Parts: sequence; structure tokens; C-alpha cells
Amino acid sequence: MKFSGSNVLVTGASRGIGEQIAKTLASFGLKVWINYRSGAQAAEAIKEEIEKAGGKAAIIKADVTNEEEFTNAIKTIVDADGELSYLVNNAGITKDKLALRMSVNDFTDVINANLTSTFIGCKEALKVMGKKRFGSVVNISSIVGEMGNPGQTNYAASKGGVNAMTKSFAKEAASRSIRYNAVTPGFIQTDMTDELKEEVKAEYEKNIPLSRFGKPSEIADAVAFLLSDHSSYITGEILKVNGGLYV
Ligand code: NAP
Repeated sequence: MKFSGSNVLVTGASRGIGEQIAKTLASFGLKVWINYRSGAQAAEAIKEEIEKAGGKAAIIKADVTNEEEFTNAIKTIVDADGELSYLVNNAGITKDKLALRMSVNDFTDVINANLTSTFIGCKEALKVMGKKRFGSVVNISSIVGEMGNPGQTNYAASKGGVNAMTKSFAKEAASRSIRYNAVTPGFIQTDMTDELKEEVKAEYEKNIPLSRFGKPSEIADAVAFLLSDHSSYITGEILKVNGGLYV
């Protein structure tokens, strides 16, 4: 895949989908900045793996819900590399509960982790990419933001917000040639879905036309396409990668 840019920041890249996105993008020759919040050792191991395979990687610690930390992380990258070509806002959490049992704190924690952090990333990217009139951002949203899910009113609101916000950033940034897109994964095999009970997983699988959960690499490939030169006329798009569960 062809990339005119040189580097990328992947948030929440210490495990799961973010880890795979980092590895995939490194395999295409990008220098990957692996962001982590608590998994320092995991981030180091991913960096080593990328370098062993001949790729370029660096590590950047930041809690992306903290505006100062996230902004400083982007500044550090631009100071080091002279630019930020691409950003993947991947970090996210769940705090599932039926709405009647959900506290306002459970609600706002998820909004802050998934939506506000993505806003900060999109805004800071616009500032630094705007100077070069080049860049592409992919936000990792969710099928739940499109179809809703019981027990996930907070998560659905955060991801529905990411989808709407991605379209708005796309419209604001297009005059500077910066693209914003989102990927909405269905159910993907990671720690996040490992938390689900086996019977719940089996029930979901029954409803997925491709009859299985997705792999992190299947999300990473879609992200790579949306960042790359091959999607140069695509912006404001919400790309479903869900095995046909929601079409
Ligand atoms: P995961 O395995 O739980 O990993 C989440 C990653 O995000 C971890 O590296 C975590 O770091 C990081 N993170 C969370 N909050 C952070 C913060 N404030 N600052 C920095 N990093 C933070 O989750 P995943 O399944 O890979 O999910 C990745 C993204 O895909 C999320 O946005 C999720 O909503 C979305 N998604 C996942 C699925 C799925 O089925 N797995 C489906 C749809 C969408 P720590 O180790 O420090 O916690």
C-alpha cells in the first residue's frame, strides 16, 4: 500500500486492535508512534517486534483523556519528526451496565475516554497537519454507535458521537486536504470482547452472517486503506467492518 506521509500516531496501541494497527502500518514503512497509558512493557515489546521485522517505531506515554498530555504527545512527535502525517484515534473503554443501573459517572467516563479524547486528537491533528496541508485521520468507532446495544448506552452514545464528529471534521478540514474517516468494527477478538460470557459470544456469533468474530488484523487492513494514498478521494466515510452484522 502506498503512503505519501512518513509517520503515524496510534493511540491505545499497547494491546488489542491498536497493537495490530501499529504492526500493520509499520509493515507498510511508516514510523509508528505507539501510545500507551499503563502498558509500558507491552508497548516496549511491540516496538521491539516492529524493529526486529525491519520497521520503525517509537513509544509515547499519554492518557488521551487528558488534554495536556495528549497535546504534548503530539508536540513531542512533531518536534522529533518535523510532522505528524497520520493519526489513528483507537484508545477506548467500555463500562457496561443497563441504563437504569448506570451512574452519570459511568456515562461520562466512557464519553471522555472514547469521544472527548477523539475530539482532542482530531483537533490537534488539524492544527499540525494544517500547516503541511497534508494528513489523514482514522477514528476507531463501533457498530454499537450505529445500531445501539443493551447495556451500552454510554458506549453507543460515545461511538455515535465519534461518527457524527468524524463527518464534521471531514467537512472543516477538506479545504486543507486533510481527510477524516472512521471504521466501525463489529465484534473483534480482543480483551474487550474476552470479557463477554461464552453464551453471550455464541449468541452474537449466531447473528453474524460471516459466523465469527473478526480479527484485529481485519480492522488494521481497513485502517491502512483509509490512511493511505489509495483512499485519496474518501473523506467523512464511516466504514463498516463487521462480518455483515449490520449493513
Ligand atoms: P482493548 O483490548 O481493551 O484495548 C484498549 C486500548 O486502549 C488499550 O491499549 C488501553 O490501554 C487503551 N486506552 C484506553 N483508555 C486509554 C486512555 N485514556 N489513554 C490511552 N490509552 C487508553 O480494546 P480493543 O478491543 O483493542 O479496542 C480498541 C478500539 O476499538 C476501542 O476504541 C474500541 O471501542 C473499539 N472497538 C472494539 C471492538 C471489539 O470488539 N474489540 C468493537 C468495536 C470497536 P491500557 O492498557 O492502559 O488500558
